[in-house]
Amino acid sequence: MDYSNERIAAVAKTLKERLEGLADKAEILKAVELRALYSEIPTLPAAERASFGKGINMLKAELEQLVAQHQEQAEALPPIDVTAPFDGNVPADKHPGLLNAMNGSKHPLMTELDSVLDIFYRMGFTAVESRQLDDDYHMFGALNFPEGHPARDDYDTFMTEETDANGKQLIAPAHTSTMQNRVLQALKPQLEQGKPIAAVIPGRVFRNEDLDARHEHTFYQLEGVYVDKGVHAGHLMATLKTFLQEYYQKELEIKTQPFYFPFTEPSFEFALSCPFCEKKGCNICGYSGWIELLGCGMIHPNVLTMAGIDPEVYTGFAWGGGIERLVMMKYDIEDVRHFESGKLDFLRQFNA
Ligand SMILES: [Zn+2]
Repeated sequence: MDYSNERIAAVAKTLKERLEGLADKAEILKAVELRALYSEIPTLPAAERASFGKGINMLKAELEQLVAQHQEQAEALPPIDVTAPFDGNVPADKHPGLLNAMNGSKHPLMTELDSVLDIFYRMGFTAVESRQLDDDYHMFGALNFPEGHPARDDYDTFMTEETDANGKQLIAPAHTSTMQNRVLQALKPQLEQGKPIAAVIPGRVFRNEDLDARHEHTFYQLEGVYVDKGVHAGHLMATLKTFLQEYYQKELEIKTQPFYFPFTEPSFEFALSCPFCEKKGCNICGYSGWIELLGCGMIHPNVLTMAGIDPEVYTGFAWGGGIERLVMMKYDIEDVRHFESGKLDFLRQFNA
């Protein structure tokens, strides 16, 4: 391209030479020389401004075109020959070309977890992340499972060969309740300021299960704890019902039946009316009209005491439930194993 203005022609030559050496060709469009030309326009005699401006625009358009050409060539590079080892001594311009990676996307469980947490934030809860390796005390002791307690056998856990300071093997947590003692202790000052403890704890948990469409060795749970003066089971039910109605965006009924957990007293199994069939019965609820969703109860006085909270003054509730379960029902997903499978066909359905 010919530039009638000498300065523009000189800059064009410099920039085109520089372009060859740039790894990121688009950088050329930010060159100081180009900006300097633009800033010259107001200093020129009025009669020259239009043609000078037009010349710079031509130069910019030419550079943009060159950048685009380079990008097209880069995309058309052949795949890497993996049988030819990469040699660090080869000059940079002779290196094999890398194909563009496909953009990643957010895992559907994480997208849903964000929306779950958003509902709890709006209800005044704060979130604390769980950990993926914990000790025997937080898995059992702090939750009122003393040594030798038979309920310890209900949790078929994975353990490390290494041991902690007490000689106990470390545990891949089987539930997010391992965080209860820490969260209660950390947030206890709020009680002293007259504010409740209100926290949700999302986390990855692990169980040594036989795998099938409803059981996976690795899944996510959401734990919740709420402690204040005068808290009772009615608050627990109202909290969970409010959350579920917001999550599924419909009116739901709930029911509970007595259950046993060492760390809550009383303990309940919590079920909600099937959001799909309105209790008429469908394959999602196994034609019962109800879906058992999670375990919950009033925090056992021993658990409060171990966190330094006086159970004579304060009471609280806790719950823990699988996040996959919520999401499977929302999107009618038939097999829990899809989540950890890494199958792109599954994941792409959530990133249309
Ligand atoms: Zn149903």
